[in-house]
Amino acid sequence: MKISITKTTAPKEKPTETPAFGRIFTDHMFLMNYSEETGWRDARIVPHGNMSFSPACAALHYGQETFEGMKAYRGKDGKCYLFRPEMNARRANFSNARVCIPNFPEADYIEAVKALVNLDIDWIPNEPDGSLYIRPFFFADDPFLGVAVSKTYQFAIIMCPVGAYFGAFQPVGIYVEDEYVRAVRGGTGQSKTGGNYAASLAALTRAQENGCAQALWLDGVERKYIEEVGTMNIFFKISGKIITPALNGSILAGITRDSILTLCRDMGFEVEERPITIDELASSAESGALEETFGTGTACVIAPVSHFLYKGRKILVGDGNEGKTSRNLYDTLAKIQRGDMEDKFNWRVPV
Ligand SMILES: *Cc1c(COP(=O)(O)O)cnc(C)c1O
Repeated sequence: MKISITKTTAPKEKPTETPAFGRIFTDHMFLMNYSEETGWRDARIVPHGNMSFSPACAALHYGQETFEGMKAYRGKDGKCYLFRPEMNARRANFSNARVCIPNFPEADYIEAVKALVNLDIDWIPNEPDGSLYIRPFFFADDPFLGVAVSKTYQFAIIMCPVGAYFGAFQPVGIYVEDEYVRAVRGGTGQSKTGGNYAASLAALTRAQENGCAQALWLDGVERKYIEEVGTMNIFFKISGKIITPALNGSILAGITRDSILTLCRDMGFEVEERPITIDELASSAESGALEETFGTGTACVIAPVSHFLYKGRKILVGDGNEGKTSRNLYDTLAKIQRGDMEDKFNWRVPV
């Protein structure tokens, strides 16, 4: 793939303090267009700035859009690394297929990310938890108000310098949402498509009104089985075992989830991927068997949970403080991602 590069003539001031997540953008972005006649064309890096499309742009009206989230890290060795980028490229196509966006060559996807990171590499914050958050996304841009598969698309990548997501590994409270649902089997829950997140905002608002950081999603049919938390997969440590809901067709298959499962097995934990109900969670908390709970995702890596709020009742996780296993998993994964530890599973990709 040939990528043309137009560098900015007005480089921005880089933040000196930890920037708020997702608000500050690097100097450049990657763009590409698609039409049926040409396929994907015009790979280019240009100064980060506003994009142009018709007010009838299909994505704005009917949500034909997908995105990914990944990070670039600077290691102690001074090198820059991506983490399992081939998984993001593959999942992008999985998401695209669900909402009829054309397939994108996975090698080109990684090449585009690398080219952009290379150009804006000085934007990686110089702090222990600093990284570049990378947001590749596809959207339909046909200027047409009928509900139809678009004939034209744009692919773009933008990047943000970020620090730790939830601040300094502070356990957070989670509101158990028992009215709204995130996804159902056969729907779009396994795909990173914008509509899923629009549908999640009312629950997030309710969680925040109840003093919680995120909403816990129960299954869409019975409101009984635990699915995910906010935009993270969820893990429990119960009587020494690591348990996470099995991928069931409505849960998003997180790359962090997959990595944590691998690490836990490697550390010798007994690991279960299976359905787990909110009642099992409540009773294991009551009996003292629930030792730890944490969410997993690229943005936060691991977010420990202090308690749940379910039908007005507080379910306390352990003693409500940071758990040893959560901390150990966070430190291990962070070290692998940054090149501070042996990369046993071949997850790191140098830029
Ligand atoms: C992106 C996302 C995750 C986490 O996926 P990672 O690949 O680990 O970042 C989990 N749940 C939802 C709903 C997501 O959108």
